[in-house]
Amino acid sequence: MSEYENERREIVETARSLVAKGYLMATGGNLSRRIPGRQAFAITPSNYDYLKMTPEDVCVLDLDLRPLAGECKPSVESAMHAAIYRVRPDVNAVIHTHQVYASALTLIRAPIPALFDEQARFLGRSVEIIPYAPSGTGMLRDVIARHVRDHNNAYMLQNHGALVFGHDMERAVHNVEILEKCSLAYLLALTSERKVSRIPLLVREIAFAKLRRDQKKVAGGDLQTGGE
Ligand SMILES: [Zn+2]
Repeated sequence: MSEYENERREIVETARSLVAKGYLMATGGNLSRRIPGRQAFAITPSNYDYLKMTPEDVCVLDLDLRPLAGECKPSVESAMHAAIYRVRPDVNAVIHTHQVYASALTLIRAPIPALFDEQARFLGRSVEIIPYAPSGTGMLRDVIARHVRDHNNAYMLQNHGALVFGHDMERAVHNVEILEKCSLAYLLALTSERKVSRIPLLVREIAFAKLRRDQKKVAGGDLQTGGE
C-alpha cells in the first residue's frame, strides 16, 4: 500500500457520499484532510468529476503547497485549506461546499445565531458570514485565515457557499449536515417575519466551552484524530 493511501481513499469516499447527499454538485467545492503527524494534507484535484475520482487522483501537498504525491492539479482553494491547517491545529478535516440553504443565507447576509443546542455544541457560537473575495485568490485565503481564529467550526462565504471543519472527516461531514439543517430552519423561520428565538445565552456558552475543550485536546494531540 502506498504512502497516504488511507487519507486519499477517505477523500474519495467522503466526496462520493457528499455528492450522494446533495452537498457537493458536479465539480463544485473541495475537501481535504491533514496527514497525521506531518505538515501536509490530502486534497481533491481541481475541476474533477467526484464520481470518476480515484485515490491516485487525490493530491498531497505540504503546507507551503509543494506537491508530495498525485499527478492532478490540486484544488484552486489549496492555499485556503493550508492557511486553515496553520491557524487551527484542532482542525484535521476541511470541507468546502456550495450547499444550497447555507448559500441562500449568504445572499441575504444573514449569519446564523445560536438556534439549537447541537449547533452550539459542534459548530460554535454562531455561523458567521465571511465577506466576499474571488475564489482561488490570496484575498479569499487571507480573509478566511483571519475569521477562523474565533474557533467556530462552520462559516458561510458571501455569495459563494459554506466552509466546515472537524477534528476528523466524519465529524466534518456531520457538521455539514448540521449546518444545512440549521440554514433551512432559519430561512423558513425568517420568512414568517416573526421574531426568531435563540437558545439561552448560558446554554450556548456551556456548549461552546465543551467544543473548545475538545479542540484543545486535539491541538495538544490527546484525542484520536481518526483515519490512521
Ligand atoms: Zn467554492
